Amino acid sequence: MAKLSIEMLGSEVLRAKAEEVPGPDPALDALIRDMFETMYDAGGIGLAAPQVGISKRLIVVDVNEPEHRPFALLNPRVVETGDETEKMEEGCLSIPGVSGVVERPSRVVVEGTDPDGKPVRIEAAEMLGRCLLHEIDHLDGVLFIDRLSPLKRNMVLRRYRKQR
Ligand SMILES: [Zn+2]
Repeated sequence: MAKLSIEMLGSEVLRAKAEEVPGPDPALDALIRDMFETMYDAGGIGLAAPQVGISKRLIVVDVNEPEHRPFALLNPRVVETGDETEKMEEGCLSIPGVSGVVERPSRVVVEGTDPDGKPVRIEAAEMLGRCLLHEIDHLDGVLFIDRLSPLKRNMVLRRYRKQR
């Protein structure tokens, strides 16, 4: 296992649309293990492959709740969202040290495949739902700051630059 370096705000790979993963690939297993290690080391609950410089549609998630086991998901996509939204504080390992309140659907259905290529469907709310939406955003080059009002975004960015 190896800890990977995390791409920070400003890195182009964070803004790219990541490529579909064609199917199960043993080479991905090592990457998935390394992504988990990197995420745990950084104290995160989710990590998307572009955050470690790999522009592929792959995420790992561990929201650290007994009812949800850690998992990796290939080609995850949002297939349904509830009408209700919820505001919650969010941060990102690629924009460390700052956070912002992001409004997102409070319920979401995500489909993808597990690392063995088996189809997976996840109905999620609360922390898990939010984490999935945040990580899937990364696969489309979207960061949580993009979902803040311009005013809030500028405040967060100012704080971020100040502490660096
Ligand atoms: Zn993030």
